[in-house]
Amino acid sequence: MLVSAKEMLEKARDGHYAVGQFNINNLEWTKAILLTAQELNSPVILGVSEGAGKYMGGYKTIVGMVNGMLEGLNITVPVALHLDHGSYEAAYKCIEAGFSSVMFDGSHYPIDENVEKTTELVNTCKEKGLSLEAEVGAIGGEEDGVIGGGDIADPEECKQIASLGVTMLAAGIGNIHGKYPENWKGLNFEALEKINEATGNMPLVLHGGTGIPADMIRKAIDLGVAKINVNTECQLAFTAATRVYFEEEKDRVGKGFDPRKVLAPGVEAIKATVKEKMELFGSVNKA
Ligand SMILES: [Zn+2]
Repeated sequence: MLVSAKEMLEKARDGHYAVGQFNINNLEWTKAILLTAQELNSPVILGVSEGAGKYMGGYKTIVGMVNGMLEGLNITVPVALHLDHGSYEAAYKCIEAGFSSVMFDGSHYPIDENVEKTTELVNTCKEKGLSLEAEVGAIGGEEDGVIGGGDIADPEECKQIASLGVTMLAAGIGNIHGKYPENWKGLNFEALEKINEATGNMPLVLHGGTGIPADMIRKAIDLGVAKINVNTECQLAFTAATRVYFEEEKDRVGKGFDPRKVLAPGVEAIKATVKEKMELFGSVNKA
């Protein structure tokens, strides 16, 4: 059964580790992530962007697929199904479809409107026992066509949004989506410390987990980050492994054209990436 992310994140915060959110794109992705979480006895959050939701045939399709896998693959570790960077409308659609967690990304609204919409969603999510992620300070880079500037979130605004009763807060601290540029300045730990203090130790979310050096990840966890989003890294791993399959012309050998064979190396690559991240985040054996 899908669970809210609240309990797993509070445990992570108190235990000084982080739970990974791994974004899914299809059945293979979902299966690879769930099997790895089960194998490592780790809690896990499956992230779904609006674009991925559309791609997979709608939110209800995803809920059906994930619930089916929890049963069919005997997944017993805590799993949350989470809308990533949701609009106000998408948040409601996912709540209705059976997601156990949603992110309302109101960072592009003026703070008053962000507060108003977040408050309404806090009430709805509480009523239904779902977890809710809010965002303050746009996160840089591009995600599904949304381009953020890589701001440093204002601790006062973080405090204001946190006090509304959200479960977790994404705050920009110089992190960006996608690959990091060579001249990237790194995470702003001073800002993170201030945000952690201002929000009363609320579980914080680090977006753009791909390519942040391991020592920065560990330091961010020490300073209150309890959820880390990984998306691009699984995509890069999947595509690189698939490329090798074709470059070695394995599709031309025997039944190598079978899609289950074609996709297998990519799936193994996702599993290896997820494993590496869970070990780095410290969530292994924390289910
Ligand atoms: Zn994000």
